[in-house]
Amino acid sequence: APVTAKPPLDILLCAPRGFCAGVVRAIDAVEKALALHGAPVFVRHEIVHNKYVVESLKRKGAVFVAELSEVPDATRPVIFSAHGVPKSVPAEAQARQFFAIDATCPLVTKVHREAEVHHKRGRHILLVGHAGHPEVIGTMGQLPEGAITLIETLDDVARLTPPEGRELAYVTQTTLSVDDTREIVQGLQARFPALIAPHKEDICYATTNRQEAVKRVAPLVDGLIVVGSPNSSNSQRLREVAERAGCPVSRLVLRTNEIDWSLFGGIRRLGITAGASAPEVLVEEIIDAFAERYEVTVETVSTADESVFFPLPRELREPAPSAA
Ligand code: SF4
Repeated sequence: APVTAKPPLDILLCAPRGFCAGVVRAIDAVEKALALHGAPVFVRHEIVHNKYVVESLKRKGAVFVAELSEVPDATRPVIFSAHGVPKSVPAEAQARQFFAIDATCPLVTKVHREAEVHHKRGRHILLVGHAGHPEVIGTMGQLPEGAITLIETLDDVARLTPPEGRELAYVTQTTLSVDDTREIVQGLQARFPALIAPHKEDICYATTNRQEAVKRVAPLVDGLIVVGSPNSSNSQRLREVAERAGCPVSRLVLRTNEIDWSLFGGIRRLGITAGASAPEVLVEEIIDAFAERYEVTVETVSTADESVFFPLPRELREPAPSAA
């Protein structure tokens, strides 16, 4: 049969992309706990928001639960996910004498501590974030009810009636859109000029860097794929950033079977990035899928170097006392 030449496709790979230091640490924590203590190891909530990662840890003996009440055996390790947990969760673990390992990203813990300090100083706290996201539930749950007001939109800013006679401070979710958050914070500052800001940005380095790289690539391509899960906040934001930066087609895709070839079948230049919880092997899969249909050339467009590394949770740094 005659060989039909494949059309050419330039792939621009955004860098940095994919795993951040907090995700690497959380996955390593589950693997190290399995290595030290054997299966099963219980994990409260998806350790990171990626089905592929969760499934591969399941095969190694991790058991995922929504709440501690589902953990049948207090002698087994229980790991809290990278997103952080409300104070009630470690309290319950302690009451039931669980062997708890906290894989909350240190950059989320930083936000928790900031909120606590504000609260101790008598300030009312505004949390800029998305309702229902586990990180927001965890941050709100650091303090008694009413201590923190969630701000999701500019409308929320306009409607806000904070408690009178108290200083106001804000903190944010770590995985927000840098641009949207700037707008919301400016809105808050316009209404409350004395508003106290974080010393150092709460949106984390990984979120910021991945959005920067997409901003650089998006105007250069006909389409952009974000490798990531629909429940991953930072992945969703990357897709929005691509759209706003003028990329005609952008989609969030977990695996190759989700690629809509009616959108990506006739393009000349493609951008690819990956959310902070998406492993590089999934990026390679996507490239392979395009290589079946196109003659691809791959070029990396890098906007930052990353060297952030977090050591494992303390409980996993050396062999734990032998289990009974
Ligand atoms: Fe930590 Fe940022 Fe990664 Fe979240 S996205 S786990 S805050 S480094």
